[in-house]
Amino acid sequence: MIGYGRQSISQEDIEAVVEVLNSDFLTQGPAVEAFELALTEKCQSKHALAVCNGTAALHLACLALEIGKDDHVWVSAISFVASANAARYCGAYVDFVDISPENGLISIEALKEKLAEADKNGILPKALVVVHLAGQSCDMQAIQTLCLKYDIKIIEDACHALGGTYKNAPVGKCQFSDITVFSFHPVKPITSGEGGALLTNDDSIAHKARILANHGIVRDCDSFQTQSHGPWYYEMQELGFNYRLTDIQAALGLSQLKRLDMFTDRRRLLANMYSEALATSSIPVKPLTQASNQCSAYHLFIVRQSSKLDNKSLFQSLHDHGIGCQLHYMPIFMHPYYSQEGYPVLSGAMDFYTTALSLPLFPDMTEETMQKVLNALAACCR
Ligand SMILES: *Cc1c(COP(=O)(O)O)cnc(C)c1O
Repeated sequence: MIGYGRQSISQEDIEAVVEVLNSDFLTQGPAVEAFELALTEKCQSKHALAVCNGTAALHLACLALEIGKDDHVWVSAISFVASANAARYCGAYVDFVDISPENGLISIEALKEKLAEADKNGILPKALVVVHLAGQSCDMQAIQTLCLKYDIKIIEDACHALGGTYKNAPVGKCQFSDITVFSFHPVKPITSGEGGALLTNDDSIAHKARILANHGIVRDCDSFQTQSHGPWYYEMQELGFNYRLTDIQAALGLSQLKRLDMFTDRRRLLANMYSEALATSSIPVKPLTQASNQCSAYHLFIVRQSSKLDNKSLFQSLHDHGIGCQLHYMPIFMHPYYSQEGYPVLSGAMDFYTTALSLPLFPDMTEETMQKVLNALAACCR
């Protein structure tokens, strides 16, 4: 079975991990710091905090923005559940914004209308989580313009989008948002096994997130609330978590980050080849429409199909041909945990759900493999 995505591990990656295993520190050593620095350089952000996974980074993002009980947080309707769960961990109400079915990204029109309606009802959200689905950047400037009007914080869930650009700047620069979050799960643009990061240009957000990622413990004597009892002294000032990344993972992440450009180039090349092959074939599937103000990292190659088969049948038929396509994603509001709250069914998200499929795409994918996928698609749609 050809999976929809997989990691690419080099000899250098292996050696970087072995080096940490032979060193003094398996966690909280120099590799995490080096990884964080490399992330800020790559993404042109002021701060980066490496943590144990993308979900933890999202949770810390909500905590650092002081989202709590009775706050409202809006989330793009098509994403992995973690995008919404982070706000729920803080006790906030979650609501969903519809997407544009041609690219799966938050619909600026839907957001605008929903904000006007919420403003009328006097229940505006404290934060908005936008999702750079498949590696394409959302239209951040338009989103920021809308959010500034109502003083709403913006979190970019860029778990798919490391390596992508928006208006010629790297995703993660946080030019039009408060925080950007990445994941380093093996299917994502680079991997550290499990891992994630929170990027921001705001000193106070960075400081808060860093303390909360380490139990809420403060070691800087200038920030102590009571007088130090001695050299061993540290203070836990609020209820934090152990969301740290290990040095073993950071070494892998850092080594992978060095090859990010190569990975991204390869993904883009393969995506172009797919697009050209599909455009010149009679296969009734179309890639997502790419906005011209961004350049996708192509974490996923999502197509929308208009074959005689419904999505379930085409999915099954492709699997029968050995093609492990996936579906990213069922709208979050359809998961029982959320649907029992009676969220409205959003039509753009439903349209996307019933037509979108992710075809295999990963840096080590060969042209021969792509041809197999295309042949299988042609056979299934015939
Ligand atoms: C993978 C992913 C996450 C969660 O990241 P983990 O590292 O698996 O915790 C969150 N949001 C999106 C959009 C993702 O794809």
